[in-house]
Amino acid sequence: MELRSRKFRTLYKTEVGNAQLRANLSKATLQAVDKRGQSFAEVDFKFLQDEAKKIKQESLSRLNDLLSQFEDSARKNNCRIFYAQTPEKANAYVLDIARRYGARTAVKSKSMVTEEIGLAPFLIRNGIETVETDLGEYIVQLAGETPSHITTPAIHKSRTEISRLFHDKLGTELNSDPAFLTAEARRVLREKFLSADIGISGANFLVAETGDIVIVENEGNARLSTSAVKVHIVVTGIEKVIPKFSDLRIFMRLLGRSSTGQKITSYVSLLRGPSTEDEKDGPEEVHIILLDNGRSGLLGTDHQEVLHCIRCGACLNVCPVYRNIGGHAYGSVYPGPIGSLVTPLYFGEQNAPDLPFASSLCGNCTEVCPVGIDIHHQLLAVRHEIKSAKKGGVERFIFRNYRKAMLRPGRYRLAGKIARGLSKTPLLRYFLKGWTQHRELPRFPSRSFREIYKSAKAK
Ligand code: SF4
Repeated sequence: MELRSRKFRTLYKTEVGNAQLRANLSKATLQAVDKRGQSFAEVDFKFLQDEAKKIKQESLSRLNDLLSQFEDSARKNNCRIFYAQTPEKANAYVLDIARRYGARTAVKSKSMVTEEIGLAPFLIRNGIETVETDLGEYIVQLAGETPSHITTPAIHKSRTEISRLFHDKLGTELNSDPAFLTAEARRVLREKFLSADIGISGANFLVAETGDIVIVENEGNARLSTSAVKVHIVVTGIEKVIPKFSDLRIFMRLLGRSSTGQKITSYVSLLRGPSTEDEKDGPEEVHIILLDNGRSGLLGTDHQEVLHCIRCGACLNVCPVYRNIGGHAYGSVYPGPIGSLVTPLYFGEQNAPDLPFASSLCGNCTEVCPVGIDIHHQLLAVRHEIKSAKKGGVERFIFRNYRKAMLRPGRYRLAGKIARGLSKTPLLRYFLKGWTQHRELPRFPSRSFREIYKSAKAK
């Protein structure tokens, strides 16, 4: 995965100055927040959240056993399992299957894990036309971009921008009516579905008990990508496994509501393997790639709960930082509050040193998270780890001396005098330029409280 998150400080500045982007984001996220609120009014969110959290905690506490159980169940369903430690191994496995089948075209449904491993560009580089079939993903692929949101990849684009894009790339008339744009995309994609040799999808859940691969979606493209092809390849993270089929009753009520405010998504596919002799449709082979890529390193750590994430996107919609800069500024396939956590935790803190600081710590994200991840405290903990690992730095110098000053009244008085003196010169503003660039430096009084008190007492 190409990580640009090291460049966050540069990227966000460009995005925050883009008024059109901010308007698009604000409109879409506020609508999503509103719908989410309405849909949860009719169920007990706290109860569902607690239940989901318990299931996820249990799943992670016995992940090895559950993965083995899932593997057994899936093999009984005639699926093939491949564990991939790294993106390279996952990509190579997919390419191998594609070559074995002489595949020229692959259709792909929405999947953050395939974004994480850069699968589509990898296959394209290796001569396999790989077409995104989710409308949002298709739009960003046409634009040569990456998704800007976990569940709504083209959230950053207005209808007019999409219409212009279709006009330029597909030669359609300039028409920003959503029905027209959807019909045009469907016309192009229908051909791809019919000619594709392999279909690639992610998975929202893997059920250990039955071997079910669960995919939720709204457009039906995932169902076509997995059934109208000869080979279906599932690429997903190891943390997606849950113990029982009945656990789905909790997640199904939470996922749609959290992401789009729907009671349940339009399509819920429960896939168990290749087609049987008496079935007319379905693939001849089903492969399931279980990706680690940094996930197992979090097991048993204070950050394990980050693996609870079901990628609903609710934390992005309520995040004041995300709403102002969008997903691309994060420089990672995982943007927003959860992206600011998983990027450093999966791929190394050195690769995303600024992302955990891209938060106001308001706690909105924690409040809406359907699986009870304490996102803002996790962000704070990762910040602490990053700062503790770093030697030196202005912040560390300031806080070390602040502590010393606060512990001794004499030093505190001296520090006050120095600060008051410095505040009359441009020096203090210069030293704090990162902070004062967007804020007013408070004016220091010419005398301290003690001095004022002393002189008042003397009168
Ligand atoms: S962290 Fe929680 S709110 Fe954010 S995407 Fe994951 S499940 Fe949804």
